[in-house]
Amino acid sequence: MKRITLADGTGGEKMMKLIKQYVLKNLNSNAKNIDVGLSDLDDSAVVNGIVFTTDSHTVKPLFFPGGDIGSLAVAGTVNDIAVMGVSPCALSSAFVIEEGFPVDDYEKILLSMKKTSKYAGVPIVTGDTKVVEKNVVEKIIINTSGIGMRSRTLDENIKEVKRYRRFDEKWIKDSNLRDGDKIIVSGSVGNHGIAVLSFREGYGYESEIKSDIKPLNKMIEKILKVGGVVSMKDPTRGGLANTLNEFAEKSKTGIMVDEEKIPIKEGVKSACEMLGIDPLEIGNEGKVVIGVVREKAEEVLKALRKTEEGKNAEIIGEATKNVNGVVMKTVVGGRRIVETPIGDPVPRIC
Ligand code: MG
Repeated sequence: MKRITLADGTGGEKMMKLIKQYVLKNLNSNAKNIDVGLSDLDDSAVVNGIVFTTDSHTVKPLFFPGGDIGSLAVAGTVNDIAVMGVSPCALSSAFVIEEGFPVDDYEKILLSMKKTSKYAGVPIVTGDTKVVEKNVVEKIIINTSGIGMRSRTLDENIKEVKRYRRFDEKWIKDSNLRDGDKIIVSGSVGNHGIAVLSFREGYGYESEIKSDIKPLNKMIEKILKVGGVVSMKDPTRGGLANTLNEFAEKSKTGIMVDEEKIPIKEGVKSACEMLGIDPLEIGNEGKVVIGVVREKAEEVLKALRKTEEGKNAEIIGEATKNVNGVVMKTVVGGRRIVETPIGDPVPRIC
């Protein structure tokens, strides 16, 4: 009998295959009120004009440098709503907890959720709690769902896109990139995965590298006000490599990126070298990858750099018909294909 493995849940190619083969096959709907549905495999769905997403969080350990399962659960869902180009308005939360779990830790997690939701300005309006016998789940799992509503800012952003090129979409989707659009990353990649892994295994990089967990809705609002944004995605499991490949595949375009431009902290670089993993494949929880019409790229970059979360943003490349898939110009002047990771090299990080 075929069984689900840990690797099936780490993002990347393996997970996508599982979702397409089973979830999509069995649950996809073509109902008329669905604007963005399961088959779009985007960060959120859109139904009757309401942006809607859900995410269950399971991270080991529960508390780590730069965050914990509570801040992760709130920021993760806020960001999945915000990257559709809308303002998140509320979250639900639900907990599955192992019997024997310390009440103090439960409250510590709730306080962290409260703090993160306050920072984002998005209230949490449900808190379902279930308790199961030991060894049924690992300690605690948190599910958060969120809804978001269209605002004038998104309409103004799209109006700005249309000044420069044809654009028939109503939402900011992964499939909206076209030849010549610029790709921006909002800051250094790999921090979250390396911080969790290093702390979990005791590698000692955590003094230098902390998780980047952050709700990005306010930062995203600022760049939408500049306008010209066509695609956005938070590079979580499978990292930047996975996000760029999803953009390329869904938009049916090639993407060329410049290795020199991709911000990666020294500590992340050295941890990756030691562990033999690619920083581009590691999950992030406070970054966004943005596709923007070329004429607005510098302006969007400037607006990002004015924010705390986006101060290390860089234009890292562009969508281009000249290549297939995702290709990177390396620092030594060569070219390499950036493939969809089979899975995130660091499991259980979100
Ligand atoms: Mg996402």
